[in-house]
This record gives sequence, structure tokens and C-alpha cells, in this order.
Amino acid sequence: METQVQERTSIERRLLSAELTKSVWLSPQTRHLEFRVAGVDDFLFIPGQFISIKQPKPDGRVHTRAYSIASAPRGDATFDICLNRIKDGFLSNWLCDLEVGASITFHGPHGLFAMRERKTDAIFIATGTGIAPIRSMIQWLFAETERNRAHEFWLVFGTRYESSIYYRDEFEEIEWRNPNFHYIPTLSRCGDGWAGCRGYVQDHVRQIVAARANMQAYICGLHQMVNANRQLLTEELGWDTKRIVFERYD
Ligand SMILES: Cc1cc2nc3c(=O)[nH]c(=O)nc-3n(C[C@H](O)[C@H](O)[C@H](O)COP(=O)(O)OP(=O)(O)OC[C@H]3O[C@@H](n4cnc5c(N)ncnc54)[C@H](O)[C@@H]3O)c2cc1C
Repeated sequence: METQVQERTSIERRLLSAELTKSVWLSPQTRHLEFRVAGVDDFLFIPGQFISIKQPKPDGRVHTRAYSIASAPRGDATFDICLNRIKDGFLSNWLCDLEVGASITFHGPHGLFAMRERKTDAIFIATGTGIAPIRSMIQWLFAETERNRAHEFWLVFGTRYESSIYYRDEFEEIEWRNPNFHYIPTLSRCGDGWAGCRGYVQDHVRQIVAARANMQAYICGLHQMVNANRQLLTEELGWDTKRIVFERYD
């Protein structure tokens, strides 16, 4: 058993290399990057997992940062990530400035942020680049009718401005094709021209889940938002913690 665990760990920690094939801005501070892993036909992962990217600083010390995979498995060696440029941050700026054709070194996939019980309705809650693993899950869920049949799914995505509603066209198209998918972007600092939802994600989560039983929740973003929603679901609405799966970026 111990040997098996050791073998698994060494496989998971195997360093891989991937070439950047596409890089686009989603907003002035946010980049969508697409990679192709070298030397494999199929890069296997579970929607919701992350990779750990390693890069040395000029002093030679190697730094590692986690980035959620933002695409569903495509049956090939490709995957996407999406990330924010962080002021004075090391790896986020290095990645945002990376040129197509350059390579990253990483290990993974890792992580337990993944869909559990699929025989229930579910709500996905994300802010900012917390949308990355949720995009992976939703792409996978709606790629085949059998995966989402007979259940309702909500995506509540919170951001400040309309210009930073990442992947809006994609989610609107999924909603248009699937009457059981409900897409709710909500803005905390919007202008008068915005006709959609306003305020923080938890204001809308409360309304959606209060009327329904036996749902699952998937939450991803910075700890303040994740904690606020966990508190709402467990303390205010009495949910069992087993029904909540979450990933915190900070
Ligand atoms: C499991 C997991 C998955 C993640 N997935 C993503 C992802 O898909 N997309 C993404 O953009 N980020 C993601 N992150 C965050 C990412 O790993 C880095 O922390 C982030 O990119 C900053 O790294 P850096 O080297 O640029 O900053 P650093 O040099 O490490 O830090 C510079 C400064 O920025 C602050 N800081 C660190 N992280 C953040 C943050 N997330 N937000 C705001 N300030 C921060 C630090 O406190 C520090 O003051 C994930 C984190 C975890 C744990």
C-alpha cells in the first residue's frame, strides 16, 4: 500500500512541459492562456483540478504557483488556464507576459475540487478568475445531455464591472441551448446602463437555494467570498457541509 502511494506521488510530481499556443486578454488585467503538453497524446484530469507551475526567479530560486485548469478534458494534450495580473506578483506577471511558442514547466493535475453527486441540482458560485475550474466543470457537464439530464444548474458569477464578465458569450450560449442552465452574472460596481443583477453573489445565492432542497454547491474564488457563501449556506440555511465543495485562491 505504502509503495502504491509512493508510486502515485512520484507520478503526480513528474514534471511536464507545455507550450503556449494562444494568449488573449479577457479584460485589461486578466489573461486566457492555452497550452499543449509535450510528449503525451492525452492530458488526463478531472474538471475542477489545478496544475502547479514552477519557474525560477533571477536569483535561481524556483517558485511554484497553482492555477486551475479552465477547460474540460478534450481527449488531447491541450488545456486552458485564466489568471489575473497581480500587482508586484511574480508568476502571474511572468505568465501574462509569456509569448506564444514559449514553454512552462509544471506538475499535476492535483486537487479535490471536483463534482461529487450528480444526481442532484447544483449551484456554481465564482468571482473573478475563480470562474476557471467552474468553466471546466460546466463545459464537461453540458458536453453531453446524459450528464445534466433531469437536473437544474445555476452559475452565479460576481465581478465589479461588465467588462470583466469572463467567458460571457460561452455561458450565454450554454444557457440558450440548455433550459436547465441558468446564468446569473452580478456586478458590484455597475453603471446605470446595466440591466442585469447587482450586488454580491451571496445576495442571489440566497434567493436561488432557499426555495430548493437537496442541492450541491461548488464555490471558487478568494477566501472572503468563499467563507461568506459557506457561512450563508451552513449557518443561515442549515446545509450539511458535505453538500459544499470549495476552492480558495488565497
Ligand atoms: C488551488 C489554487 C488554484 C488557483 N488558481 C488560480 C487561477 O486559476 N487563476 C488565478 O489568477 N489565480 C489562481 N490561484 C492563485 C495563484 O496561485 C497565485 O497565488 C497568484 O497568481 C499570485 O501569484 P504571484 O506569483 O503573481 O504573486 P506572489 O508573488 O505570490 O504575491 C504577490 C502579492 O500578491 C498577493 N496575492 C497572492 N495571491 C493573490 C491572489 N490570488 N489575489 C490577490 N492577491 C494575491 C500576495 O499576498 C502578495 O502580496 C490559485 C491558487 C490556488 C491555491
